[in-house]
Order: sequence, then C-alpha cells, then structure tokens
Amino acid sequence: MVKILIALSLLLSTKAFAFSLSVSNGAFFKENIVKVNIGDNCQNLGVTSDGLLSLAVEAAEQFWNKVPTSRLRLEQGAVVSVAAAFRTDAICSTDNPCIPNPDLTHSHEVLITCNTNASNFANTSIIALTVPNSVAGQNIISSTLLINDNAGNQFQSKSRAEQISILAHEMGHAIGLGHSPVTDSLMYYRSLASRFRLGWDDIDGITFLYPVEQPISGCGSVDLGTKPPSQMGPLMLGFLFALLGGYVFRKNLKS
Ligand SMILES: [Zn+2]
Repeated sequence: MVKILIALSLLLSTKAFAFSLSVSNGAFFKENIVKVNIGDNCQNLGVTSDGLLSLAVEAAEQFWNKVPTSRLRLEQGAVVSVAAAFRTDAICSTDNPCIPNPDLTHSHEVLITCNTNASNFANTSIIALTVPNSVAGQNIISSTLLINDNAGNQFQSKSRAEQISILAHEMGHAIGLGHSPVTDSLMYYRSLASRFRLGWDDIDGITFLYPVEQPISGCGSVDLGTKPPSQMGPLMLGFLFALLGGYVFRKNLKS
C-alpha cells in the first residue's frame, strides 16, 4: 500500500518519473540492514581489501544512507574469501536479458569482488558490473558487484572521491536500481567523476523501493486540527458560564 501511494505521489508530482529498476519485477532487499562485503581477490586496484571495504562504507554513508525517506541502511560487512570463479567467470550465463551466472551466487548480501573476464570487460572503459544474482520473487537475496581488475583498469587511476562514487553507483544497482536518464543522478550511466551526492531521481528511486513504513492499526486517519475530546469538556463549561453571565447581566440591566 505504501509503495502504491508513493508511486501515485511521484506520478502526480510536477517532476518526471525517471528512475528504472535493475530487476524487472522491482525486487528489493526485505531487510532494513544489508551488509556490504569484499571478496579478497583483487590484485590491480591499487587498494587493499580492507581499503576497498572502507571505500564501500564511505559510499554507503555519503550516498544511500542519507535518505530519510528510505528504510534501507547499507552497513560494513567483512573481507571474505571467494571461489576462483568470481575472478574468472562471466557475470551472466546468457545476455539480453542477463541470466545471472549461478557460479557467482553467494551468501554475503552485497559482495564486491574483482574480475578479469573478457566478456565482462571488453574494454578498459568498463569499470564495474553489478547484478542482483539471487532473487526470490520480489526479494533480492544477494547481489554481486564485479570490478574490472585487468592490468590498466580505470578504477586504480581514479581519485578516492571518484572511486567512492563508482562504488556507490554500482551499489545502487545491487539494491535494485537501474539507470536514470536524469543527468545529475548518481544512477546516470556515465560521468561519475562529478557525483558527490544523490540527485532527486536517486532519492525517488530508493524511496520507491525502500519506503519508511509507518504501521497503522485499523484505518489510517487524518487530524483536521479539532481539539481532542479531553479538552472539549472545559471549553463547553466555559461557554455555559459565559451564557449564564450574559443572561444575569441583561437581567440586571432590565431591573
Ligand atoms: Zn550503471
């Protein structure tokens, strides 16, 4: 119900409804807290696994964890060992649409790991790829984020701030968002160098997928500003005294 209301409010707003979703059925993590973990297989990023974990945590804090209308919090996980397939395999078994490679499933919610597969990274301009690769119905169970770790990769030549925004963009895919056509969005598909905060379309997207729930018992209600019943008694008493006072005053005038 909350998502329907949010979708309606977004449609009725003057802004365009632009964000897209990374899973066609609009899948999302059902948990409020999702851990971000690092696979220990990177060799050419110029940063240690612990350093990469720090970058990921900063990406979460600087971008996705700052949205008050979203229930989702991305938190620091751990550096974990991963199978060789995470470094060598294609992210999709078949493309268009991508059927996620079952050999890259895992139990780490969001897993950031390094990869050198030629079909994943046909050229060095592709910095990273992400797919929610374990989805049950509308629930994302886990997502895999692969960073291009080939020699000469672009990630290692980026500034720290750019690396953070690159990870934040890929984490956006991991939690269920696709690309946005809005150019100042983190989820715009290119020019990540200048992204240091979320745009309004990113905020709309994460709020749509992860609305803050406000449980209500029975029907929802709206307060029209009337006095609560407990204050009506004294008010009525005062009104009666005023009537009585006026009556006595007029009677005294006549007499
Ligand atoms: Zn992207």
